[in-house]
Amino acid sequence: LFVVFEGGEGAGKSTQLTALAERLRDHGREVVVTREPGATGVGRRIRSLVLDTSGDDAPSPRAEALLYAADRAHHVATVVRPALVRGSVVISDRYVDSSLAYQGAGRTLPVDEVSWLSSWATGGLKPDLVVLLDVEPKTGLSRVASRNTGTDRLEAESVAFHERVRYAFLDLAAADPKRYLVLDASRSVEEINRQVVRRVEEMLGK
Ligand code: C5P
Repeated sequence: LFVVFEGGEGAGKSTQLTALAERLRDHGREVVVTREPGATGVGRRIRSLVLDTSGDDAPSPRAEALLYAADRAHHVATVVRPALVRGSVVISDRYVDSSLAYQGAGRTLPVDEVSWLSSWATGGLKPDLVVLLDVEPKTGLSRVASRNTGTDRLEAESVAFHERVRYAFLDLAAADPKRYLVLDASRSVEEINRQVVRRVEEMLGK
């Protein structure tokens, strides 16, 4: 089973995916928790190319899209597919939808082209479930600001950018509702966890 958590900045993805992984491990499942960008050695170098930048050395939108796609291709080939073949539950912090939302809607590249690029990079591997933690950009960004990491880059992106990202995620979910669980990220950690666990255990046939 391949589960992906998506959402804007400060949506609480990492808290939720950690809690889900713990629960599944407690019930005897083998779980691989992973992330994009930067789950592999190659990916960590790509992550630093796309994220540790100041305005003047940031990659151009198309270069950025190719770097995320390269990270994803390597991630799927060396981490995700082998784990799925072993029968693990794979839980990824971000996947294709982040590219459609950030590089597509955010940077205003044609979304169908970004989608094609991701599908080439992954050999067409789709998640079984996408948990979308929907957060209003202002709320999410203020949560991240209190964490105080990488905020310079986030401040450089306008609220309008994060609004486009948010609505792109919601549109993707609306277009394929069976594959998505959309949750309001302002609800309590426990309540969100309960809903995620219920859905995933249903899918695992418990
Ligand atoms: O989820 P995490 O905080 O690690 O993501 C790091 C940053 O990478 C996010 O702030 C997001 O802006 C950016 N990102 C992106 N396009 C992707 C994935 C992540 O712009 N496809």
